[in-house]
Amino acid sequence: MEARISLAVIARDNLPLVTGYAGAPMGMPHCCQAGHQLKRMVYENCFVTTHCVRTVHAKQNAICQAAKRGMAIAGGLVSPKFNVTPTMTTN
Ligand SMILES: [Zn+2]
Repeated sequence: MEARISLAVIARDNLPLVTGYAGAPMGMPHCCQAGHQLKRMVYENCFVTTHCVRTVHAKQNAICQAAKRGMAIAGGLVSPKFNVTPTMTTN
């Protein structure tokens, strides 16, 4: 099975402004380097999940990239989530 990367694009006036991927925020260690940081969550309805908190959603990373660059994204549209394969990102 081929690995996939979730990607988000924030665009305004049909022009892409910034992108983000599902993973560790820029400058932070990735799971493949530092291992997963699993946390158990118990919700009010007693539903229990365990997930990695080292990573954030692609949309969150895109918003952080815009903030880091001082880029206004007000009025921008966030793309639906794209799943791309590594071979799509190399060409
Ligand atoms: Zn992880």
